[in-house]
Amino acid sequence: MPGDGKWTDTRVRKRLRLGIMGGTFDPIHYGHLVAAEEALVQFNLDKVLFMPTGTPARKTDQRVTPAEHRYLMTVIATASNPDFEVSRLEIDRPGVTYTVDTMTELRTRYGDSADLFFITGADAVLEILTWKDSARLADLCTLIAATRPGYDLSPFMERPVPSGLRVETMEVPALAISSTDIRARMASRRPVRYLLPEAVAAYVSKNRLYRGDG
Ligand code: ATP
Ligand code: MG
Repeated sequence: MPGDGKWTDTRVRKRLRLGIMGGTFDPIHYGHLVAAEEALVQFNLDKVLFMPTGTPARKTDQRVTPAEHRYLMTVIATASNPDFEVSRLEIDRPGVTYTVDTMTELRTRYGDSADLFFITGADAVLEILTWKDSARLADLCTLIAATRPGYDLSPFMERPVPSGLRVETMEVPALAISSTDIRARMASRRPVRYLLPEAVAAYVSKNRLYRGDG
């Protein structure tokens, strides 16, 4: 369990500050990794748990790479960072993935021993605030919103947001990297070096993902 061992010798157990970085990770790239690392440092988190989505609720009309590939790419990308872990919670849960179910499950698992921080890019925050269950989410976690080029986070500076969800904003170095762009580049044989870890790019080639031929 994240954080175990680290606190076992302390008399008063410190509350675990657990970051959760959800995403399709199709494929994972440096935008995701930089955002997670910044959240870790800026919010003094003990761990960031990367959570590849099973069947993403908002991408049911899109082709998404099989979960096992997305999970393994996430493991490869995070393997060298001792503060990053990858969870199978969502990919092992049948049906469409809802973040509120994941947060409920983590809350049940950790009880009152952890504070949960859901890390998202600015585009995702704008969506989350429109979810019908964002009020339930508000009871479970705090949102950390990372800046992303082209998205104005200033509305979140005025609080509270309607659902009561706590939203913390975070500046990350502007990285105009997206999985959509990486897939398009790979399909048309354009370069992706320096946009995502080399080992992930090698995994993509080996498994012939994103070749644009279906
Ligand atoms: P796609 O283009 O397929 O939607 P994506 O690059 O947006 O992929 P996702 O897996 O959808 O990646 O994103 C997971 C999370 O990471 C979301 O909260 C998203 O806002 C955030 N994110 C994605 N790219 C960046 C980036 N370059 N900088 C900061 N956050 C990002
Ligand atoms: Mg996206």
